[in-house]
Amino acid sequence: MNGIRKYLFSLIMLLIFETVAVALWLTKDNLFYLFNFSYIGISIALGIFLYIRKYRYARRIVQLLVGLYMLLYLGIVSGENMQIEGFWYYLFTGVFEAATIHYAVAKIFGPLLFGRGWCGYACWTAMVLDFLPYKVPRQPRKKIGWLRYVTFAASLVFVSALFLANVGNLERIMFWAFIAGNVLYYGAGIALAFAFRDNRAFCKYLCPITVFLKPMSYFSLIRVKCDKEKCVSCGKCRKVCPMDVDVTDNSRKRKNGTECILCMECVKNCPKKAL
Ligand code: SF4
Ligand code: SF4
Ligand code: SF4
Repeated sequence: MNGIRKYLFSLIMLLIFETVAVALWLTKDNLFYLFNFSYIGISIALGIFLYIRKYRYARRIVQLLVGLYMLLYLGIVSGENMQIEGFWYYLFTGVFEAATIHYAVAKIFGPLLFGRGWCGYACWTAMVLDFLPYKVPRQPRKKIGWLRYVTFAASLVFVSALFLANVGNLERIMFWAFIAGNVLYYGAGIALAFAFRDNRAFCKYLCPITVFLKPMSYFSLIRVKCDKEKCVSCGKCRKVCPMDVDVTDNSRKRKNGTECILCMECVKNCPKKAL
């Protein structure tokens, strides 16, 4: 019985995704949703299962399974622009399909439940950035987080301009925008990682999606919490955190609280099992 209970969270996540998969399949009458959300749910459940089994690369496996599927299959093979420009595009055309549903589930309403789990387990940009050598930032955080609002506004202006100028063949343009956008993100992400000696510098300063993710994840149901009785204030959790979160503070206002990507490095490294 204890064995099954150990894997309950993995099963719950699978059930949540299956519920979304079946609900969308039936309401949209499209088998793709059943396949898509089942695949993502199975990948996440597998990752949690491996994490519980203490497999070192559990998170990286989920990142690769989901990230590659989204980038290669949904983005390149199926021609869906899954970047923020694609979200604006489908929103403006009034189509509540793949990219808009993806944003609603993973980046707007989902974070109320699983915070920035997207950033830790599914994002195909971070999937590559996490291979770089600076897993833990080697420099203090810079005060340039406002740049995210510039990239956010630029993405909105770009898509609005296409609509206002009545440009033809928008589907094709959005496909190439997806390719160009990813090249830009990877280029900027890698350059920033080396400049600031921090793999996640792009996430901290430039990524436009954090404009949605940060406020929503503030209310996240799933959070890493600290048992003050066990904590000996050794500071190890802070040292291994890629996002500079003060995880020993249990309040929602904790320092960089909305940056937590639920990577569990702090939990794994706490010598007192206080997290
Ligand atoms: S902050 Fe942006 S780039 Fe980083 S993991 Fe999240 S969505 Fe991906
Ligand atoms: S690593 Fe554990 S014991 Fe050390 S400060 Fe963090 S929560 Fe406390
Ligand atoms: S190390 Fe802990 S606090 Fe930091 S991002 Fe990962 S889960 Fe969140």
